[in-house]
Order: sequence, then C-alpha cells, then structure tokens
Amino acid sequence: MSIQTEQPGELVFRSKLPDIYIPKHLPLHSYCFENISKVGSRPCLINGSTGKVYTYYDVELTARKVASGLNKLGVGKGDVVMLLLPNSPEFAFVFLGASHLGAMTTAANPFFRAAEISKQAKSSKAKLIITQACYYDKVKDFGHENGIKIMCIDDSPPQDCLHFSELTQSDENNIPTVDISPDDVVALPYSSGTTGLPKGVMLTHKGLVTSVAQQVDGENPNLYFRSEDVILCVLPLFHIYSLNSVFLCGLRAGAAILLMQKFEIVSLLQLIQKYKVSIMPIVPPIVLAISKSPDLDKYDLSSIKMLKSGGAPLGKEIEETVKAKFPNAKFGQGYGMTEAGPVLSMCLAFAKEPFEVKSGACGTVVRNAEMKIIDPETGSSLPRNQPGEICIRGDQIMKGYINDPEATDRTIDREGWLHTGDVGFIDDDDELFIVDRLKELIKYKGFQVAPAELEALLLTHPNISDAAVVPMKDDLAGEVPVAFVVRSSGSNITEDEIKQFVSKQVVFYKRINRVFFIDAIPKSPSGKILRKDLRAKLAAGLPS
Ligand code: AMP
Repeated sequence: MSIQTEQPGELVFRSKLPDIYIPKHLPLHSYCFENISKVGSRPCLINGSTGKVYTYYDVELTARKVASGLNKLGVGKGDVVMLLLPNSPEFAFVFLGASHLGAMTTAANPFFRAAEISKQAKSSKAKLIITQACYYDKVKDFGHENGIKIMCIDDSPPQDCLHFSELTQSDENNIPTVDISPDDVVALPYSSGTTGLPKGVMLTHKGLVTSVAQQVDGENPNLYFRSEDVILCVLPLFHIYSLNSVFLCGLRAGAAILLMQKFEIVSLLQLIQKYKVSIMPIVPPIVLAISKSPDLDKYDLSSIKMLKSGGAPLGKEIEETVKAKFPNAKFGQGYGMTEAGPVLSMCLAFAKEPFEVKSGACGTVVRNAEMKIIDPETGSSLPRNQPGEICIRGDQIMKGYINDPEATDRTIDREGWLHTGDVGFIDDDDELFIVDRLKELIKYKGFQVAPAELEALLLTHPNISDAAVVPMKDDLAGEVPVAFVVRSSGSNITEDEIKQFVSKQVVFYKRINRVFFIDAIPKSPSGKILRKDLRAKLAAGLPS
C-alpha cells in the first residue's frame, strides 16, 4: 500500500496491488456474464438440498425468462422486488432478472416477524414479494392491504398467491429495452449503519461491478476465485456479504456456487466432501463450529484451499485453531460493511503472488479505492499504527440511504469519504486491524441488531419509561443485545416479562439477553444515550 498526501497532513492509503480497469459502464448482470462463452456449460449453481445443477447457460437464460415474467407482472425500472427466501436458485434468478429490468431487489431474513418484514417492504415500497408458502402467513395481510403482489416458489403455493412458474415460463425474448445507467440502484439491503433504525442502502450497478472487480478482476486476477473452484454459499444471500462476495464474485469468476440453505455442521462437512468445495467464505461462528467439530476427521476435506472469514470480529485463538486444522489451506479475514459495498479490505494471502499476512489482520484496502484513518474528535487523518475511525472512498460505496438524505450526509462526507464507525489502524506492512466500534451496531453471529429498533420497541411497553440497548460480549455469538431499563413509576415489571415482550416481536437474534434495571439512562446534554458509559458498566462487571 502506498501513502499519498491528499491535503496537507492527510494520509491516504491505497492497495499495494496496482489499480485495474473496471468496466463500470456495464449493467451488473452483463458484467457477471461477460465471460459466458468460456464457461457456459460449466456448473454455475448447485442446489445443495436437491443436488440439482444449473449451468451458466441455464442461469443466464432463466434470469432472462424471469426478467420477462417480472415485466409482465408490472415490475419495471426503479421498482422494488422483495425476496424473503433462503439460499435457493430462485433467489439468484430473481436478483439477476430484476437487474435486467433496471429494478431493485431488497432481501430480508425469512425468519423476520411480520412487523419486521412489513417495515422493510413499506420503506422500500416493494411491489412484489417472493417467498415460500411457509412464510406466506407473515406477509399476506399487509401485502393485500397495501396492494403488494405475493408469489411463492413452492410446487403447490397457497391459493391466492402467484406461482414462480409464471416467471420461469415467460418468453426470454420479451424483455423490454431498458436504459440502465451505472448509477441506477440494483440492490437495496437494509442496515442501520452508524446510528438509528435499519435503512435501505442503495447499491448501484457501478458500485457492485466495482466491488466485484476489486475482488476478482485484473492484473492479479481471481484473487479469490477461479473457474475451477467450488464455492460454498452457506451465508445467507439476503446479506450483502454473501450476495456480493460469494454469489456475484463466483459468477464473475465462472466458478460453481454450492447453495446451502442453512448451516448445520455435519451436512456442511458432507457437502464439502461430496462436491470438493475449494473456497469457504464464512463468519466467525462458523469458523468456531468448524474448529470445535468432533466430526472433522471423518470427512475428506482436502479440497479446501481457502477459508475466508468476515462480517464480524474473529478471535486470534480461533483463527490459530482453524489454521492448525487446515494446514494446507490458506486462511484470511476480510472486512466489510453493507454501506461500503461491502468490501473495504481483503486478505492478500490469496493473491497470485501471495503476501504474508498476520494473525488478526483484516486484509489491506481493496484496489481502486482509498482509505484513511481519522481522529474521530478532530477529523484529522492519522499515521500508521494509530487507531482511529476507518474511512473509505471509491466507486464501490453506496449511493446513499433511500429516502434519507440526512442519514446519508451523516455517513458520507462532502469529499466522498464513507465513515464506517469502526476503529482500526494500519500497520507498517499495510495491514488493517480493527480494534473497536464507535457506532451503535450490535453484531450477533454476523447479523445486525440495531439498538434503536429494540429501544423503540421497549418504549412501547407501558411499564417502561426509558431504555437503552448495548452489546455484551458472548463466546458463541460474539455479541448479544442487553437492555438497561428504567421502570415506570409504581411498576415492578420483571426481566423475564421484558424479554418475552421483545422476543414475541423480533427475529431470534434480536432477543434481549439480559435486562438491567437502572434509575436513569445516562444521556448527553443533547439527549443522546451515553452508550460508552453503559458499555463501561458492563465491562466493569455485570450490574446487579
Ligand atoms: P454489515 O453491514 O452487516 O456487514 O456489518 C458491518 C460491520 O460488521 C462493520 O462495520 C464492522 O463493525 C463489522 N465487521 C465486519 N467485518 C469485520 C471484521 N473482519 N472484523 C471486525 N468487524 C467486522
């Protein structure tokens, strides 16, 4: 990585690999299938549940059929299709089909409760929700009330629901000509960013093309993936880590993408052996499960060339354990944030000419991008080895939050720097280390939990007069949300009652783990919760 002086005293870090040409003019689907003539007959998607294999030609064709079918249903440029699906070929077909039309896809966790789904559907103004029959009850009421069409992918969908075959049986030659600009939005994942409630993150064709290219294109080609690779896709496609760094990167590289619906260690090991998985993009809880599994030796896992962890901090001990278990594979961490497109830095141990990497490092900044570390108080940039807020700039970052220019302005400054809310430093060998988080976000096994969302929910309880939610360290999940609660006067509501009240309304990973009663929530003069004080209270030992 070289340092450039941008403004007097400003240190900007760049990749130690040279910049590359990126075809930013291409719509995302065209970019992904640019090399189809070379890989058309090779496996593209493997459905791990059924064993069905779709070649690149199959996927490209089905995506065009789906585009035509979506168009018949009234989906056009700028419209939003919501996916409420586990990892499945249908997810991939709709994402690519919508891209053909200049439409956007917003995906949500199918385990979300009805209220969580409807919030995202309403905020994104989804026109169509594609899901499975088992989730239909959660979407049908507000779908019908708001005129949102609902489609199920099952063979026998509920009666009043559209069927996926309406898309796959459409005429692939009947797609309208759409003028797709590089700045049009193609993906709309939800993230709470540095503060507040989850917001729609606008990722454009140019942004995702740039991000994928930064990972797999160029002079030092296929940093991560080659067309002969089999990539495990167990991380949920509704999260941008999987959608971008597994699915889209896999497509661009012409590799086979093995879809697994749900993480379960023995099935995972069986699939690795059966399909000779070579690349494993995973998150720290899966790294932990693998490193502790008593079944590891029962399977031939020699095909694995690379294990890549990201999405949340990984402890050094687990990293060392897993490295020892896979001596012939390379292990490295990457660092992402939805708003950053999402990849900010990646491990160069996988480069064509690999670099040595240190344990605990999160890689070096991606190519064609700039990174700086700033003092969060003064905003001035910091030299190597000094921790500060990590900022990134480049074409891969989000266009902004949908319908929320204020939140966008708080996150991307006038010079185009995205402020991550993460604290880290860059060492003498250009490696990035993340050491803390300034922002509110809680990460449960890599899943986002927004404190503001839980606080708003807690405040709807008549026996709670004030509340604050902060992360607490947890060996299995990384972090869990805990609540500090001020009871309403005269109330003696219990910890269990509060936990139950919340758990009925949220997906499992947003459940409150502990409740601590307190006389007053510490706040700044402007009314901001002093989360640092509450985190310090936890660090000092559990309050009674
Ligand atoms: P998300 O937008 O859900 O991808 O969450 C992004 C956040 O996850 C980042 O801003 C970090 O706080 C955290 N994160 C992602 N990757 C890492 C990593 N390798 N090490 C530490 N934290 C990470």
